[in-house]
Amino acid sequence: MHDFQYRDGELHCERVALSRIAKEVGTPCYVYSHTTLVRHYRVFDGAFQSIPHIVAFAMKANSNVAILRLMAREGSGADIVSGGELYRALRAGIPPSKIVFAGVGKSWEEIRYALETDILMFNVESSDELRAIDDVAAEMGRRARVALRINPDIDPQTHPYISTGLKKSKFGISAARALDEFKLASSLQHTEVVGVHKHIGSQLTEVAPFVDALKKVVALVETLKGHGTDIRYINIGGGLGITYSDETPPLPKELAEALSPLIRDLKCVLIMEPGRVIAGNAGILMTRVLYTKEAEAKHFVIVDAAMNDLIRPSLYNAYHDILPVREVQRGNPVTVDVVGPVCESGDFLAKDRTMPEAKPGDLLAVMSAGAYGFTMASNYNSRPRVPEVLIREGEIHVIRRRETYDDLVRGEAIPEFLR
Ligand SMILES: *Cc1c(COP(=O)(O)O)cnc(C)c1O
Repeated sequence: MHDFQYRDGELHCERVALSRIAKEVGTPCYVYSHTTLVRHYRVFDGAFQSIPHIVAFAMKANSNVAILRLMAREGSGADIVSGGELYRALRAGIPPSKIVFAGVGKSWEEIRYALETDILMFNVESSDELRAIDDVAAEMGRRARVALRINPDIDPQTHPYISTGLKKSKFGISAARALDEFKLASSLQHTEVVGVHKHIGSQLTEVAPFVDALKKVVALVETLKGHGTDIRYINIGGGLGITYSDETPPLPKELAEALSPLIRDLKCVLIMEPGRVIAGNAGILMTRVLYTKEAEAKHFVIVDAAMNDLIRPSLYNAYHDILPVREVQRGNPVTVDVVGPVCESGDFLAKDRTMPEAKPGDLLAVMSAGAYGFTMASNYNSRPRVPEVLIREGEIHVIRRRETYDDLVRGEAIPEFLR
């Protein structure tokens, strides 16, 4: 459920007409609904109310500080994957006691930064990393809390690029090696093992892979408890899918009902790292049609947004619904490629899409773009990154202004010898 709906033939975000937003901030732009974000967070959090838990919003889905502040107000923590994300989380007021740090390649600087700010824990992915964390903690006279990320070797049945829990994946530690890693971790002086972590992939549309993976984690936690390692946190990662076209992913409540019985008796705090399910359908990318072009084999709708603004179609062949902002009656739907101005054949937002005929000047809404949209945007082709706006109670709040040409060259320098 989201708050982008037609009213009197025009697509609105909550009570605000998208055309009004286009007039105020121009196109392309990202538009987020405050109501949807809050509802999605509360539904997810509420589903797990019967067990002690922390929701750590996966910041890589959407890391705008205003969105993070909103999450912090709702009680969310953060799942971070870099020092930059830690900086953003702290700027937004997310308490360090609810921040968990994932990723296979944490640098020493990032580890130091996270220890200084006393985050809840590191999700550790290798023995090298474990030793690095222990070394940095020793240097600082601290003790690092860690969870080991287990690779449960479960096929989440999703796109290979967003599947992370298979044996051949770079993520996590295999179940076979897990005990040895836990032994190593327990032997380190400046490291305290407090949890087990897993994340098997993204855009999962079934409950079964979550259940299968958690069963493996629970078995491991029981073994560890038998060895005297007291595991206090079980982190099941993120990955719950959303409806982009006709997927019917489980509701958070259904996920909670399937998972809660498995861990209720363990007396652990459950950590979850949802990203897409909170932010995905809470945002759109609005774009304007520049030209239409009838090539011999194809019809193209050329819009002002491109792969640098939303890379998911190019990168994952991802499907995003594209809706006309003003409902039009222009005869039969047509089959087109919706493409951007970037000089790459891979620059498209939709391929062979049947939709109402679009004309230059029309506004289009690329739906479900609130997660992995702006955060994956780049300046490729020297295109300034687009603004982000948050709609709340009929008001338009610019939470990131459009970049300028000056922004594009900020930090660049011409060396003396070229002057
Ligand atoms: C990407 C990621 C998430 C979030 O995944 P979603 O599919 O957006 O819920 C959570 N945890 C880890 C470790 C991740 O890499």
